[in-house]
Amino acid sequence: MRGSIWAVASILGASVANAQNLPQASSPWYQQAQEALQERLANQPNTKRAKNVILFVADGNGVGTNYASRLFAGQQQGGLGDDYVQPFEAFPNVALIKTYSTNGQTPDSAPTASAMNSGIKTKNDLINVTENVAVSDCAAGLENGVRTFAEIAAEQGKSVGVVSTARITHATPAAVYARTANRDWEDNSDIPEGCAQPDIAVQLLDQMKNGVVDVAMGGGRRHFLPQDATDAEGQPGRRTDGRDLVQEARDAGAQVVFASDDFAALQASGNAPILGLFESSHMQYEADRSGEPSLAEMTATTINALSANDQGFYMMVEAGRVDHANHGGNLYRTVTDGKAFADAVASAIELTNPEDTLIIVTADHEHAIAFNGYCGRGSSITGLCRQIDEAGTEALAEPALGDDGKPYTVAGYLNGPGSVMQEQADGTWSGSRPEVSADEAEGRDYMQQALVPTSSETHSGEDVALFARGPWAHLFGGVMEQNEIFSVMNYAIKGQ
Ligand SMILES: [Zn+2]
Repeated sequence: MRGSIWAVASILGASVANAQNLPQASSPWYQQAQEALQERLANQPNTKRAKNVILFVADGNGVGTNYASRLFAGQQQGGLGDDYVQPFEAFPNVALIKTYSTNGQTPDSAPTASAMNSGIKTKNDLINVTENVAVSDCAAGLENGVRTFAEIAAEQGKSVGVVSTARITHATPAAVYARTANRDWEDNSDIPEGCAQPDIAVQLLDQMKNGVVDVAMGGGRRHFLPQDATDAEGQPGRRTDGRDLVQEARDAGAQVVFASDDFAALQASGNAPILGLFESSHMQYEADRSGEPSLAEMTATTINALSANDQGFYMMVEAGRVDHANHGGNLYRTVTDGKAFADAVASAIELTNPEDTLIIVTADHEHAIAFNGYCGRGSSITGLCRQIDEAGTEALAEPALGDDGKPYTVAGYLNGPGSVMQEQADGTWSGSRPEVSADEAEGRDYMQQALVPTSSETHSGEDVALFARGPWAHLFGGVMEQNEIFSVMNYAIKGQ
């Protein structure tokens, strides 16, 4: 018995001694890993009460889409891409999140954003009402609402902000402040006759008036204006109840801004309440953006405005259009919006202190995106898969080929408008893969090849990642249900 303990001790001793003299110890890979180990050893859990909570959601940015954004950002900097680290990827705590809804193996953004903002899973298309409600059941929706994290934070004296590049009445941002039996009830014209449920735009105004929401910025002017009015860009409103919610917000003391120039003035004197409505519908894709603030600018301005409150704040920031570009089968706009999202997180990292601010970076769901081939390093993430160089590091110029002799892109979609299947004159569907050149594949408007034809590429039900830093961030880990995100936020602002 005693002898075997000595034997174990001497084996351990030998392995420790060998670690100092490993032939790989001079490799930069080995050294990088040693440094990362030291950082992990130095990490201490922060058990202080969270003064501020910032929830970043890139809509439709699951593990796969996030991978594409990482490579894009790294390649834009002139690197091969794989080794690039997005700002939130350096956070110490990571979990995988299960995104299904109560009736959807594949969810939409309404139940997923509700899960994060109120701690329950519910049905697709429902926002902050329980799964007992059938979609569009107005009466049941009114009776089965739940309390949101924004309301809890406001009750504790905190300020609340919501920022999105989508319409501010769209499902994800709406989950910060609204309860509804149908995510499409963005203004009164969408609501069935006799239904007493206020539309989502009215609910935002009400939550600003009653002091729950202090800053809201995004698109969606049309849902705030009457149909006989036009906005600053000549687009008509959609309300049929004659209400001008923009004027009502001003009357209630809010600063209302519509474009980059008013926004610049706001950055100088950004006192809440603030309502920013920068487009009639969704804000522009980052790749096309002009005359509108970036997601990073909206994030920084909102943090500055909310920081005036000594009690702290809760803020949700959504990169809404990562999702829309994926739906369009267009990886270029997906990853340029993914980069804009990472820039917004970077600005929050810079403007806050990890001692008192919990930052959570996640997605609501993934898409039907997939990655092809044994591509060599440096193959453009939006372009063709190139062959591995067996004698070197960077990919050869020659594309990898399918058995049909044609090149293929690194990324593709299982369904979407880029489908290779086309409807024929006789109503049947058939197709074959078109030839694609490297230049074509890297075009801004290129749609990656897809299999199943759908006019809008779909979400998928696979896990998304969550990255966290700050107070109680260490409670995130392992594989979690999406509604547990609320529980951690709610615990973090109460502390022990
Ligand atoms: Zn979507």
